[in-house]
Amino acid sequence: MNIHEYQAKGILREYGAPVPNGFPIFTADDTENAANALGGPVWVVKSQIHAGGRGKGKFKEASAGEMGGVRLARSVDDVKKYVNEMLGATLVTKQTGPAGKQVNRLYVEEGSEIAKEFYLSALVDRASGHIAFVVSTEGGMDIEEVAHATPEKIVTLTVDPATGVMPHHGRAVAKALGLKGDLAKQAEKLVGSLYAAFVGSDMEMLEINPLIVTKDDKLRCLDAKISFDSNALYRHPQLAELRDLSEEDDKEIEASKYDLAYIALDGTIGCMVNGAGLAMATLDIIKLYGEEPANFLDVGGGATEEKVTAAFKIITADPNVKGILVNIFGGIMKCDVIANGVIAAVKAVGLQVPLVVRLEGTNVEEGKRIINESGLDVLPADDLDDAAQKIVAAVKKGA
Ligand code: ADP
Ligand code: MG
Repeated sequence: MNIHEYQAKGILREYGAPVPNGFPIFTADDTENAANALGGPVWVVKSQIHAGGRGKGKFKEASAGEMGGVRLARSVDDVKKYVNEMLGATLVTKQTGPAGKQVNRLYVEEGSEIAKEFYLSALVDRASGHIAFVVSTEGGMDIEEVAHATPEKIVTLTVDPATGVMPHHGRAVAKALGLKGDLAKQAEKLVGSLYAAFVGSDMEMLEINPLIVTKDDKLRCLDAKISFDSNALYRHPQLAELRDLSEEDDKEIEASKYDLAYIALDGTIGCMVNGAGLAMATLDIIKLYGEEPANFLDVGGGATEEKVTAAFKIITADPNVKGILVNIFGGIMKCDVIANGVIAAVKAVGLQVPLVVRLEGTNVEEGKRIINESGLDVLPADDLDDAAQKIVAAVKKGA
């Protein structure tokens, strides 16, 4: 689960990490009090969307002005002007895709005088099984580009969970960033706070880009991105409340209610599959035969008829879907249950596009019989190859 920058900064602040003061803005009326409370003389008005690259982003609407999604203001009037321009407008960044994201919240914070910009992140490093800190002197820019062009400028260190974070980790970070004296001490303290925040709230990823040194030699987290391990959210009900559904795909929200593993994609073939590996193989084979999948969907090993119906509804509600491929291997899941689920779903929501069903495994004969006798317009397939070719051909014919 991802959260907004202002929420992430709130968490870091609780753990004692240095972040600028600021206030979230939900309606333009909140602006004056927030700007006055911060006092100025420099404010920064920041779009709150679950995507990076906001500073260099562009708004779709001319009324939002020429500037990007992060704006420096030198008077309360300018703060108000920027809030009015950006609130409700659609910001397009490198990470949003061409459709952009509507800005429904802003964050007004005190402006910092930047002397240096660094990159710092923490993540779960699967290779070592440890939490790793990744730091670079090349902050404020695309870290992927730094990794590509000058990988030697990125330093990674891991923290053994048996000892937790130690002073030497902080010293290593300070050294990698070229910090000495009091700034090195601040870096050590920061690394301790960030590690505690990471472990304490079960984060998956924490990214500070940029981490800055101010002109008066203070280390500050100027941007903050956090994603939490969704499997651990039950331990943190107060964090679960930070979820902003307006940032998520409607179909994915609906799928999460039924515990379906669903990810929306850009193509035309809707897929209903059981098992993540089989789902990935299904996406691959659709691409192999020249079409693109509209989603990844794993209904899981023990899907019920109700779950299958919900999954089917989510797929058919997507206007991009021009054909559906149901690919089920009945192991724990029985083919006749799937067949009944598909039929119930088609009866409930109707079927406007071609449907190919491939069943294999437990009770496959019964499953096929149920489909054949249902009177529904279903194209049966014998194996995955046959199924993919059939649905691709049907979609191409319809296009
Ligand atoms: P994004 O990464 O989405 O573009 P950032 O929060 O990193 O958003 O902001 C972009 C840039 O704006 C930063 O690299 C920094 O130069 C500047 N900036 C952000 N917040 C402040 C602030 N409080 N004071 C001064 N400059 C800021
Ligand atoms: Mg940033």
